Amino acid sequence: MEQECWGRIRSELLSSLGKDAFTNWIDPMELLEAGGRVAQFSVPTSFIGNWVSRNYGESILGMLQAEGLKVDRLDFRTVSAAKAAPDVTRTEAKAAPVVDLPGSPLDSRFTFDSFVVGKPNELAHAAARRVAEGGQVTFNPLFLYGGVGLGKTHLMHAIAWETQAIRPEARVLYLSAEQFMYRFVQALRFKDMHSFKEQFRSVDVLMVDDVQFIAGKNSTQDEFFHTFNALVDQGKQIVISADRAPGEIEGLEERIKSRLQWGLVVDLHPTDYELRLGILQSKAETQLKTMPDVQMDAGVLEFLAHRISSNVRVLEGALTRLFAFASLVGREINLDMTQECLADILRASERKVTVEEIMRQVADHYHLRMSDLLSPRRARSVARPRQVAMFLSKMLTSKSLPDIGRRFGGRDHTTVIHAVKKVEELKMTDSQIAEDVELLRRMLEA
Ligand code: ADP
Ligand code: MG
Repeated sequence: MEQECWGRIRSELLSSLGKDAFTNWIDPMELLEAGGRVAQFSVPTSFIGNWVSRNYGESILGMLQAEGLKVDRLDFRTVSAAKAAPDVTRTEAKAAPVVDLPGSPLDSRFTFDSFVVGKPNELAHAAARRVAEGGQVTFNPLFLYGGVGLGKTHLMHAIAWETQAIRPEARVLYLSAEQFMYRFVQALRFKDMHSFKEQFRSVDVLMVDDVQFIAGKNSTQDEFFHTFNALVDQGKQIVISADRAPGEIEGLEERIKSRLQWGLVVDLHPTDYELRLGILQSKAETQLKTMPDVQMDAGVLEFLAHRISSNVRVLEGALTRLFAFASLVGREINLDMTQECLADILRASERKVTVEEIMRQVADHYHLRMSDLLSPRRARSVARPRQVAMFLSKMLTSKSLPDIGRRFGGRDHTTVIHAVKKVEELKMTDSQIAEDVELLRRMLEA
């Protein structure tokens, strides 16, 4: 009965997914049993299990339920030669390319789809795409480097996901350099070097993350070097990441440094304002999907992109905290709430622009004197620039509203609030103002 249901679901999936996807993902699965509210499937690799669960899990569950099966969860059990007989050498494993590889788990969020591309990372992104497409190995290794939180690990996981999607038969192994060392040391201890070597030399794509970790660890470096050479000789793709360029990793043997430079060395540059804003927009969209009740003011993301210029992980953390806070206390996310909620993060990434500098630049830009901005004059030719300057003061410094008001000729904080709102509105409707603000911001931040 279960198997008949599964048979029907399979044919439905075949017609809805198409032959290729069906052959790659659904065909290798077997329904083992559906009882105790769990439908258990066997899959040849945990990768296939993860993929199916991530992409088709909900539909399959729905279809099982529609067939009248009392299940509310899917479970994937990897049935592989490796698990069944962990002690044997890997000769059998080689014959059957479905054996699980000893890699690190892949984060399902780290895909090309969720990677926002901007000037600072476009080359790295393009190279990663090229590697994932497969075909002729044109640069080997691909060496990605850059500061913390700029997306190296994200790109490597994306390569793994994409490669598996395009070529499910390819054996992709992703692991941190630390894990590489751990495996190596274990193999030495258990006198299991043969299978260690076999494992690593039978992959099609090897990715080692944070390779600076093995600097100074000499026997691990040696083994890494041999593995590396063996794979390159077989025309297999290698992707390496590190926090700095190959030549700058201290404690790394010269021959390894030079070997790492044979391929394509690409760096991920620190993020710029546009990229940060793009990333924030994409992450906020994702968050809003899960918390549709949360309201967010338009200027908040821009504010964060201005003010948090360190790594993307900090940006993400800030956004997560804002959403958590907003949904807990039921408040909308606006500038004030943001400044309050993220005071620590904002302080840590404070830029040293002063209100006086802002006034000077703004006055200059509009051909006014600084004293005009402080004066009580209300003519639009003075009032607008004054509002722009107040807006920028709120955006670029961490001065409080009353404080900003005081510096603008002893005005009230409500005047500042009004100015901020006004400029935010005008930026949407008046392209001249939008340009002015953008230009001033760039000059002040330069
Ligand atoms: P690294 O390995 O370089 O230290 P990660 O790849 O771990 O950095 O990235 C840190 C966080 O920032 C991750 O959550 C990642 O998804 C996110 N991230 C970094 N760059 C981007 C980008 N261009 N688009 C979307 N998310 C990004
Ligand atoms: Mg990383």
